[in-house]
Amino acid sequence: MARRARGRHRARRIAGRTVSGAGGQQPERVPVMKPWLGEEEARAAADAVLSGWVAQGPRVAEFERAFAARVGAAHAVAVSSCTTALHLALVALGVGPGDEVVVPSLSFIATANAVRYVGAQPVFADVEEATGNVTPQSVDAVRTPATKAVIAVHQGGVPADVHALRERCARWGVALVEDAACAIGSTVGGQPVGSGALVAAWSFHPRKVVTTGEGGMLTTDDEQWAQRLRRLREHGMNASAAQRHASSTPVLESYLEVGFNYRMTDIQAAVGLVQLGKLDVMIARRRALAERYGELLADVPGLVPVRDPAHGASNFQSYWVLPDPGFPVDRDALLAALAQAGISARRGIMAAHLEPAYAGHPHGPLPVTERISRDSLILPLFHTMTDEQQDRVVAVLREQAKR
Ligand SMILES: *Cc1c(COP(=O)(O)O)cnc(C)c1O
Repeated sequence: MARRARGRHRARRIAGRTVSGAGGQQPERVPVMKPWLGEEEARAAADAVLSGWVAQGPRVAEFERAFAARVGAAHAVAVSSCTTALHLALVALGVGPGDEVVVPSLSFIATANAVRYVGAQPVFADVEEATGNVTPQSVDAVRTPATKAVIAVHQGGVPADVHALRERCARWGVALVEDAACAIGSTVGGQPVGSGALVAAWSFHPRKVVTTGEGGMLTTDDEQWAQRLRRLREHGMNASAAQRHASSTPVLESYLEVGFNYRMTDIQAAVGLVQLGKLDVMIARRRALAERYGELLADVPGLVPVRDPAHGASNFQSYWVLPDPGFPVDRDALLAALAQAGISARRGIMAAHLEPAYAGHPHGPLPVTERISRDSLILPLFHTMTDEQQDRVVAVLREQAKR
């Protein structure tokens, strides 16, 4: 069986499209995600290259302005990834050894790792089943006098209830960092995720909605913070390379603190500017596909699809379903059935505390995290997905529900 599947895969690669060895046509493989990139992004990248300025420069500055405006923040600081954005946010907050930072274990592992980078302890909070996000209650259950900050993740684009979290964190005297890696274009209370955030971190990895290949962003309303973050991403320098280049008189830079090289390139920013211009169209398409999934899955018993919470709207960066405990087959069997039908799905969001990197790391009970991580699966959803592809995904799930 395995050999036959491999053989088929090879045939498909060689032919460029699918032709099964057993005769008969197999439809094209459905990816779980595919960035929506085209000629316009390619031309923008080429223009940046031909301009001769390829490192952080005018296009990064323009991307920052456009991004800040789009997410409703006063300032945006471009960096090399969301992981480095989270690291800088914690450095700027002065989090260090002896401090605790409450994070969901149910997140991409970078959320917890950023806390380790500054020598602090990640403390895992459980999440609510409907959104996959931490709540004031789940944070309160694990915070201690050593808690210096909370990182709330807008999981898979589903907005966390940041209004409730901000209010509580302010009362506790604890900083709230928002990991908005997946959440560009999601909204909370009608406002874009990011607006009103002390500091939010964003990702432009191709698995997210807007991509620059690799890349990240920090947003904040605080001018002092923005300045510090700009300095930290560029070796702690008091004047950026772009500023020095633009000056007609020599600028002697000095290094005010130990910083990092976490810069974005102008080539990436050029692509990001084009992608940002397409964001509204991308979100509308993702939300339409999510709505159609919801309708198609409504009569598949035992599968609970992710949906908008009462407090906001998702960009559906990830569309996951959570099988009821009584569902006839388990998650891994569902993934296998989908793979057999030429469909790439993914296990649901990982749980950091279950990974070897966190073996032995102390934590309290995380029952909801473990249930979502063990049982949920992420279905394909991408801008150019067709109704026919979506029907194929649902047909497999419907078949499995009947077993
Ligand atoms: C993808 C992701 C990250 C890491 O983003 P990079 O840009 O790849 O570093 C961090 N947090 C969450 C929640 C993510 O989904």
